[in-house]
Amino acid sequence: MPTIITDSAAEDAVPTHDPSVAELIAARPSLRMHALDGLMFEGVRLDAIAQDLGTPCWVMGAGTVRARLRRLREAAAEAALPLGIHYAVKANDHLAVLSLLRAEGVGADVVSGGELARSTAVGFDPRQVVFSGVGKTPDELRAALGAGIGQINVESAEELDQLSALATTMGRAARVALRINPDVDAGTHAKITTGLADNKFGIAYADAPALFRRAASLPGIEPVGFAVHIGSQITEASPFRSAYRRMADLVRSVRADGLPVSVLDCGGGLGISYRDGPEGSPRTWFAAIRQELGDLDLRLMIEPGRWLVGPAGLLLASVLLVKRTAGAPFLVLDAAMNDLLRPSLYEAWHGIVPLSPRAALASRQPTNIVGPVCETGDSFATDRLLPPLAPGMRVAILDAGAYGAVMSSTYNARPLAAQAMLDGERWQTIRERQPVPALWAGETVPSWCAAP
Ligand SMILES: *Cc1c(COP(=O)(O)O)cnc(C)c1O
Repeated sequence: MPTIITDSAAEDAVPTHDPSVAELIAARPSLRMHALDGLMFEGVRLDAIAQDLGTPCWVMGAGTVRARLRRLREAAAEAALPLGIHYAVKANDHLAVLSLLRAEGVGADVVSGGELARSTAVGFDPRQVVFSGVGKTPDELRAALGAGIGQINVESAEELDQLSALATTMGRAARVALRINPDVDAGTHAKITTGLADNKFGIAYADAPALFRRAASLPGIEPVGFAVHIGSQITEASPFRSAYRRMADLVRSVRADGLPVSVLDCGGGLGISYRDGPEGSPRTWFAAIRQELGDLDLRLMIEPGRWLVGPAGLLLASVLLVKRTAGAPFLVLDAAMNDLLRPSLYEAWHGIVPLSPRAALASRQPTNIVGPVCETGDSFATDRLLPPLAPGMRVAILDAGAYGAVMSSTYNARPLAAQAMLDGERWQTIRERQPVPALWAGETVPSWCAAP
C-alpha cells in the first residue's frame, strides 16, 4: 500500500518545536498515512470507525498493546531479570484491555474494590493481583482478603492495624508489602509525582524498618517486602535509580535486623513520548533495577500502566466549527475535557493528526483546539501548528490509551463516548456511546421537589 510523506516545505519555515504531522506519524509504528484511505491505525482505516461509531470515540489497538508488552518482556529477558509484570489497571480498565493482558499472562495492580472486581470479572486469578492505594475501605479490604488477593501494598501504620484486625476476624493472613515513600523527585509534573516526602503516598522512609518489624508481630499479617512508586511519565533512569538504591539500603538493613524480605515491588511510572522527547526505555529502567536490586535475591515486580497502553489508544473527534478571532482561530471539536481530561488537568501535550491525507499535507498555521464544554480550561492545545481544517473534518488525538477514557466524566450532560478495539485489520465496538437517558438513570426526585 502506498504510504505518503506529509511534510510540506512550508513547515520548515515555521519556527516551532511542535513535531509535524509526518513526524508524529513516523514516530508511532502503529500509525500510517495512506494516500487514499487516510490515517490508518494498525491495519484499520480510522475514518471507517469514526463513520460507524460517530465521534467522539476512542480506539484501542490490541496489536499495539501486545507489541509493547513483548518489548517489555524482551527487555526484561535481555537484562536477565525475572520480573512479575502487574498491569496498573487504572491506566485503562476496559474489560477488553484487561482480558487482552490477562490472556498474555500478566498480573494486575488495582487501587480500588471496583478495579479488583473488574479484574476478577475477566478472570484474573486474585493471587496475581496486587492491591495498592493510599486509602482502602474496610469493605474493599474484606473483598480483597475474601478473594484471596496476592498482595496488599499498605501505605500507613493506621492501614496496617486495620488490615490486621480485619484479617484476624476473617481467619486470613494478608500478604503485605509496605509502600515506602523514598523522598525522591521523579522530575515529572507536580500532579503525577508521588515519591516526595510531602506527597500523600507511602510510609516515610525513616519509619519503614520499625513498621516492618511491627508488621511481623501483628496477627493476620504476613509481611513479604516493600513497594515503591515514585510517579508517572518518567522518561529518565536517574529517579528510578535513586529510589531503588534507597530501597536496596532498606532491604539490607531490615535483613540485618533478622527479618526476612522476599519481595520488592518496583512500581510503574515509565513514560512515553507524547511530543518529540524520548520515550521511557524499558531497557534503561530494567538496568537500574538490575544494578540496584539485582543481587538481593528478591522476587521483583513492576506495575506499568501508561507505557503499555498509552500509545495504543486514540480519541477521534470531528471539527464542529472554526471560529475566527483576532489571534489564532479556535477549532471547536466535538470532543471535550469531559472525554480526555489530561490537557486540562496536567497541561498535557497530545499530538493531533487529521484523518484525511489531503488535510495532513497542507501547510500549518497556529490554531487553538478546544472542546464545547463551558470551561475556559476545556482546551486541547493552544497555538498548535495544524493544517487548516474545515467543519466536519476529523482528527485523531494521539496517545490517549492511558488515563483517557478512564478519566471521562459526563460533565455538561455529555454521554460517555463510544469505544472500539482493533487488532490488525479487524475491529469491533467495545462500548456503545452512552444513551442520553442513561445519564440520569439512578437519579430520583423527592416528591417535595416536583411541581404539584
Ligand atoms: C498509577 C500507578 C502505577 C502505574 O503508573 P504508570 O505511570 O501508569 O505506569 C503503578 N503503581 C501504582 C501504585 C500506581 O498508583
